[in-house]
Amino acid sequence: MIKNLLAPTTLQFLRSMNPEAKSEMERMEILADPGFGKHFTDHMVDICWSARGSWHRPRVQPYGPISLDPAAAVLHYGQEIFEGMKAYRHEDGSIWTFRPEKNAERMQRSARRMALPELPTEYFIDSLKEIIKADGAWVPSEPDTSLYIRPFMFAKESFLGVRPAEKVNYYVIASPAGPYFAGGGVVPISIWLSTTYSRAGKGGTGAAKTGGNYASSLVAQAEAYDNGCDQVLFLDSEENKYLEELGGMNIVLVYKDGTLVTPHSDSILEGITRDSILELAEDRGLKVERRRVTIDEWREGVASGDIVEAFACGTAAVVTPIALVKSADFEIGSADAPAGPLTLSLREELTDIQYGRREDVHGWMTRLDA
Ligand SMILES: *Cc1c(COP(=O)(O)O)cnc(C)c1O
Repeated sequence: MIKNLLAPTTLQFLRSMNPEAKSEMERMEILADPGFGKHFTDHMVDICWSARGSWHRPRVQPYGPISLDPAAAVLHYGQEIFEGMKAYRHEDGSIWTFRPEKNAERMQRSARRMALPELPTEYFIDSLKEIIKADGAWVPSEPDTSLYIRPFMFAKESFLGVRPAEKVNYYVIASPAGPYFAGGGVVPISIWLSTTYSRAGKGGTGAAKTGGNYASSLVAQAEAYDNGCDQVLFLDSEENKYLEELGGMNIVLVYKDGTLVTPHSDSILEGITRDSILELAEDRGLKVERRRVTIDEWREGVASGDIVEAFACGTAAVVTPIALVKSADFEIGSADAPAGPLTLSLREELTDIQYGRREDVHGWMTRLDA
């Protein structure tokens, strides 16, 4: 295990500002219709790590290409992890993020699995504050918009032998994000049940937020599109019957007595959105079950009327109703099914907290611009 026993408790970031930063007018034009993941802010954060020197040289520098040796280990063996979170602008102009210590801890778990160094939680949160210090003006203020923040870490060492890299870099980039659903409403999605591909296997990397899981889901996602669906649903790799998750979102089923059921599995990426939504449901006195659940249970539950809603959740789309599950052999639900009321009200409660419209009784929000 790679540990950083000698790391100082705070980092002094070296700041070099971008002389070619976008003008206010250019920025405003982008923020008026940012889309998702298309535009990037003027700066990025970078912290180096080496086996000998631990974390060092924390910098804020102009956003731009990273120079890599062609033998950099990440390009060959995919030793990489990432996180995804959002900065929200509140009514008074202040900038906040949601449960960042959870992302920091998850990145540490991902790092352990991928034999990368663990970035201490304080460094992680400092790195978010640094990107906001440099690029806070990029946090949009229209309803349902945010600045998507993407921390990531990869093996930079040039070495073709197979072992954990001894040189690693951590970066933070940021990208303004418009409402996930164009037009602002919430549109239920159709999902394709993959029976050909698995997302992750027992003992594999399913619980780590690592690029390889996404690379291996792309053909399944393409199959979903080919079948007229928006997203792909994966089952467990051993028995091909237990629900796991979508390519990048967790799933939750709602029973008619108000119970929420979500798959429990070692190969699922544990979403912070899911965790928070389930906590809000428990606050309302609803029962929450984290257990194994089969695709047959879903199918029979919808047929009998026992299962009344289903939704997917993750930082980017927050909470998204699932209207239809489609497979080669059967369908569950129907494409024109409306969003469920519990799905919508949990979504609203969570986004109200995130945007500062509702009291944050759990202490989930962290201010980034002060
Ligand atoms: C990031 C991610 C999620 C959602 O996690 P959140 O913390 O809620 O954003 C779910 N599944 C996968 C595979 C992911 O990579």
